[in-house]
Amino acid sequence: MTISNAVRQLVRKRARYLCEYCHSSEEASAALFAIDHILPRSLNGSDDLNNLALACQRCNGYRYNFTSGIDPITQAVVPLFNPREQQWSDHFSWL
Ligand SMILES: [Zn+2]
Repeated sequence: MTISNAVRQLVRKRARYLCEYCHSSEEASAALFAIDHILPRSLNGSDDLNNLALACQRCNGYRYNFTSGIDPITQAVVPLFNPREQQWSDHFSWL
């Protein structure tokens, strides 16, 4: 199913035209950002607004269809950042 242009614009505006993962600016990017499925379609993620996030090409590529990763410090499997459920400042408090 294709995401409508109206939904794309809603996601972009809600994100204030910033990547919801790294906060880079779409305006400063050479390419438009992607509409990312937080829970990938391949894992039955929906096109609901709560499952969509604006993502720069790099973040979208790194996320691919992963929902978890290995913490490089603890080696524990941890869920990837979810911009709908977590605050960026809390998740990246070490920055
Ligand atoms: Zn990004």
